[in-house]
This record gives sequence, structure tokens and C-alpha cells, in this order.
Amino acid sequence: MTTPLDAASLILISRDDRKVLWAQRNPAIRFLGGYHSFSGGKLEPDDGNCDVRNESDPEMRRLKACAVRETFEEIGVLLVRNGEKLTKGQFPLLHDDLVSGREPFSKILEHWGLWIEGRDLKYAGCWTTPEFSPVRFRTRFFISRVPEKQEPYAAIGELRDVEFVEPLEATRRWSRSEVLVAPPVLFSVRALNEFANPSISVAESSEKLRDLSARMDGRVHHIELNSRICCMPLRTKTLPPATHTNCFIVGSKRFVVIDPASREAYEQEKLLGLIDELVGKGGICKAIIVSHLHRDHFGGEAALKAHLASRHGVEVPVVGHTHTSDALKGNAEFDGTIGEGDTYNLEDSHNEAFDLQVLHTPGHARGHLSFYDPEFGFLLTMDNVLSHGSVLIDPPEGNMDDYLASLRRMRDLEGLRTLCGSHGTAVSDAKTKVDEYIEHRLERERQIKEALKRGLITAREIAEEIYTDLDPELLPLAVRSVTAHLERLETTDSGRVVAN
Ligand SMILES: [Zn+2]
Repeated sequence: MTTPLDAASLILISRDDRKVLWAQRNPAIRFLGGYHSFSGGKLEPDDGNCDVRNESDPEMRRLKACAVRETFEEIGVLLVRNGEKLTKGQFPLLHDDLVSGREPFSKILEHWGLWIEGRDLKYAGCWTTPEFSPVRFRTRFFISRVPEKQEPYAAIGELRDVEFVEPLEATRRWSRSEVLVAPPVLFSVRALNEFANPSISVAESSEKLRDLSARMDGRVHHIELNSRICCMPLRTKTLPPATHTNCFIVGSKRFVVIDPASREAYEQEKLLGLIDELVGKGGICKAIIVSHLHRDHFGGEAALKAHLASRHGVEVPVVGHTHTSDALKGNAEFDGTIGEGDTYNLEDSHNEAFDLQVLHTPGHARGHLSFYDPEFGFLLTMDNVLSHGSVLIDPPEGNMDDYLASLRRMRDLEGLRTLCGSHGTAVSDAKTKVDEYIEHRLERERQIKEALKRGLITAREIAEEIYTDLDPELLPLAVRSVTAHLERLETTDSGRVVAN
């Protein structure tokens, strides 16, 4: 488990007190790229040198300086006192000094006679990234109103689509899966929507947001991807660098659970807690689904089934593809099979029905299933596509030709917008991500063909040559992957067919 880094974030309210500022993080950013968020970032040593007045707590002084600095850097809004004497032309100079690193923020403030008024930023709670995340922050949130005569904009490449949005509209967009929103931002926006009557009071909101985080921080084990799909990462024995497998709960009044894979009691408890909540609100579990045969995707389904039977008196079938149930005979018990063409009719918490399509997408495994919500364009790619890293294609279970066909099929799904795999976070631009995966495989294939031309023969020789900077421990996996490519080259003769 990684130790969280200190960070600060600013909830900026529009001058008419009706809207809140958010922006989309650049999809290329490793931590929550593509997600909508407030301005903010991690604490830097110089933050402690900034002139922050009327704030007695030294830690808060640093964090407030951090929030102000990050906000200036990202959206060009400078939340300082004495700033009214700066001309419009001077803001870009200050900004450039900061972003280029020419001068630390504390010096810039000093140079221009500016300071941060501690009372301008009201504390609005603390949220800690859960332990399943490879990058973790302990983020202190502040709330403030945007200063007069300053208009936010995407001041650096980290953010785009900077906008003030009414909390109700922000919540609506998230619920319809038009944007991805990390839990603290989602909770804050939802809460601001509740408090707004109709305007947002900075002082009142800061108190309520503080209470909310005190109640919930550290107790949130799942991520609501939209109003229909909930993702709960559970610790499993998976392949590094992943440590968790995402369990998906799709629907709430009528729902399915996909890959409740953890075998650890503590992890299972978290899931059962959430399931009990849903059933307590009248939810009916239609099926427990195992997406494919790998050991980090099954193992908790029997415990969930038994719990639903003993606690709630309901018999819920465990299902998977026929290849999966055949392969796992003796390891996992299946009550039925599902496959291409099957659809679950589910229902969200507002009794709104929707369909979840089952797609047979072999390649990573023969019986690999993916799941698609065509209305929201949301695809659960499971192990076929992940937010980070690549996927192991290990013959004979894995088949590179099938895998490429599955990738192309997923990319061409009508209405596809967002995806989430079994490890890591959701991805806002699904088509681009799947294209990257296809391109990555074809690039490997080109390298392998070159290596063959140069006279290399075995998968090991080729892997050693083309996987530069590879951790030696991972070499056996690279060899398996090269083997999969070689098989595809033999069986499809794509050495000639796929010339580019
Ligand atoms: Zn797998």
C-alpha cells in the first residue's frame, strides 16, 4: 500500500453563487486522466514559504498556498489580495514565471506585493484516495468564490473544457455517463446541489462538505461510474503491477454482479455490505457472472451466492461462458451459461430500465465476456483493455488473432464512448484507447516480423530483443506474448496480409 501524498484542491464558485468550476483532466495524465475535477494538485516545498495571512495553522497555510498556486497554474485564476492593481497584461507574465519554474510562487507573490488571505479559502473537508489506487493523495478541499474580473481558462495542457456548471447539471451529466467524476468531486457536487437553494453559500457549504468528508472519508470502497455501474476494486492475486480486480455491480433495483473475485474475507465483507444495501432497498440480484477463467476473476462467487441465500433467502445463479464453466470444473460451480446475444434487462435506483448486452470477446481467454450498455455507450472490457499497461495473450488459451478481432469489434460498437477494464480506472475516450491497443499489437507484430527476417527463430530470442527495458522477471510473460504473435503469423499468414 502506498502512503498518500498531501494535496489540495479548490472548489471555485461562480460570482453569482450558482455554479461550480470543473474541467476535464487530460486523458494522458496517469492519475484519473479524462476525469472531471476541480483545480488542485500535490503540495510542494515552496508552498510553506508563501505569505498566507490570518491562518494560524501552519499546515493549513501550506495547503491553502498549494490550492491557490495550483488554481493559478491550471486555470489562470489568482486568488490573492492586492491583485486588483495587476493589469490584464501582467497576469500572463506571472503565470509564465510560475509554470516555467523561473520563480517559485512565494517569490512571485512577494515581488508583486501580493498575499493570500487565509479567510478567502474556507476548509471543505479531506478525502483520501483509497488503498486500491497505485497513486494516492490526501487532499484537503477548500471552497472560495472566483475573484472579480478574473475569468478561468485552460491555462496549461493538464486540463480542458474549463467551465462553470450548475451542480444539478454536473450531477445529471455524470448520471448519464457523459463525464467521469472521481468520488470526492462527485460527492461534493451532489452535496452542493442539495445545499443550493437556489444559490450556493460558501460559508454554509464549507461546513456541510466538512461534515460529509468526516463521515465518509476512508469508508468509500466503490466508485460510481454513472447512475448504473458501480465499480468495487477487490484485492486478488493478479498479475503485477495490478493488485486488485474490479468487481462491477450493474443496476440497483435489478442488478448483476460481475467478477466478485476476491477470496479474502475482509474484501468480501466490503462487497457484501454494498449488496446488502442494495437488497435492503428492494434490489434483486439477477446473476453472479464470471467474466473468464483466470484466477483473479473468480473465487468469491460462491461466498456471494451463499450469502444471498442465507441472509436474503434468494437463489442467484452463477453464470459464465460455456468455455469458462468447462475449464473451471472442480474449481468453481456454475448454474448456467451465458454468451453472445444474451441481454440482461436491469433497473437503476430510479426504477429506470436498461439493457446490458453480453459480448463474447475471445482472445485473452476463449470464453472471455465483455458487457455493453448501448444507451450510455459504456463498455466493460474486463481483461481485454485496461486503463494502463497491456494485456497478456497466453496461448493456447490466448489467441492473438481472436484478440485483435475482439478489439476491432469493441472499437466499432455503435455509440461507444467510455470503457472500464478489470484493473485500473475507467477511460473517457474508449475508441482512442482501443485503437492504441490495436496499434500496440500491430507494432509488436511488425517488430517480430523484422526479427524473423534478421534470422531470429525462438520466441525467447525475439522477446529478449524486442522487449527492451523489460524487468527480467517478466521475460517469461513476454515470451508467451511473442509466441501468441508467432502463432497468429503462422495461422493467418498475416506476414503478407497485414503488410502495414
Ligand atoms: Zn484474465
